[in-house]
Amino acid sequence: MLDNHDGGCLCGKVRYTVYGQPVRAGVCHCRYCQLRAGSAFGTLVYFSLEKLQLRSGKLSEYHFRTEMGRTWKNEFCSTCGTTLFMYLEAWPGDVGVAGGTFDPPTFWFKLSGEVFKRSKAHFVGDIEAPRKMETWFNYEARGTESCHLDGSRNALIELGADKES
Ligand SMILES: [Zn+2]
Ligand SMILES: [Zn+2]
Repeated sequence: MLDNHDGGCLCGKVRYTVYGQPVRAGVCHCRYCQLRAGSAFGTLVYFSLEKLQLRSGKLSEYHFRTEMGRTWKNEFCSTCGTTLFMYLEAWPGDVGVAGGTFDPPTFWFKLSGEVFKRSKAHFVGDIEAPRKMETWFNYEARGTESCHLDGSRNALIELGADKES
């Protein structure tokens, strides 16, 4: 039997299948993930590009550059807006599948990491992952983010520094 998993968007028009186990899977608390998902954190389950098969539906794209200067492409359902796939310069040749879009049992994969803890929501508890990082490998902000994207502002709240001003 093939080791495959199906998933799709909220409206059901986009359907996909991934084959095999992910190369990595992470929970990410960065501002980009919080905004694209409209939620406390993102869950990205990575596969080699050839392990993803789009079966139906139409995707729209949004491209941007992170504060590290890297390209990031989001693909989302053109009808309902569910974010499904992410293509990050940091992981060339891989696609990040939005973890919440798999059919039940949705969270069949194991996490390998938890990243950008500096902007983790205060109400999110301990997450079981072997590797944890405040930000990211060799993280270095090259530019200044506008206020709504600045994850370091959440770090200030965690330290209580926001109460001083
Ligand atoms: Zn949809
Ligand atoms: Zn993220």
